[in-house]
Amino acid sequence: MKDTAIIVVDMLNDFVTGSLACERAQRIIPPLSRLLSAARTSGIRVIYSNDSHIPGIDHELELWGEHGMANTPGAEVISELEPTEVDYLVPKRRYSGFFQTSMQLLLTELGIKTVIICGLHAHMCVRHTTADAYQWGYAIIVPTDGVDSFTEEDYLGGLKYLKEVYGAELIEIDELIKRF
Ligand code: ZN
Repeated sequence: MKDTAIIVVDMLNDFVTGSLACERAQRIIPPLSRLLSAARTSGIRVIYSNDSHIPGIDHELELWGEHGMANTPGAEVISELEPTEVDYLVPKRRYSGFFQTSMQLLLTELGIKTVIICGLHAHMCVRHTTADAYQWGYAIIVPTDGVDSFTEEDYLGGLKYLKEVYGAELIEIDELIKRF
């Protein structure tokens, strides 16, 4: 698994309990905590892909209102999944963690071939990040209990799309950890 990295998408205060709170996000926190602990123990890199919006500029804000604003508590990773000193933080201003960020450069430098993509939301930022990961040629794993959306419909639809369109392997976290 040395050529594998985990990308944690938008597990930020604003998306869990803040301005765009998602009740369903609570259920993925314990499994994600197990996943990240196991990864760090096994030397698998953990990369946080975090909204870091600029007020008055980022056009996504017109659609969703202010959320994940740079340098605010709302844009910080939730305390339960707090990054450690060995992890990487890659800020983003669009849905995709790759768009105009250093994600691709970082993955190349780390020699990554497979990405495990988790976090919020299965049908939005996880989907767009997965799209770009696929288009850059990475193999993709999405843990079914490590992503979520505002509704069951969006969650299930998101997973189905990731599998069908990007060949994402869907697997439960406790099964995935056995490979580490
Ligand atoms: Zn955003």
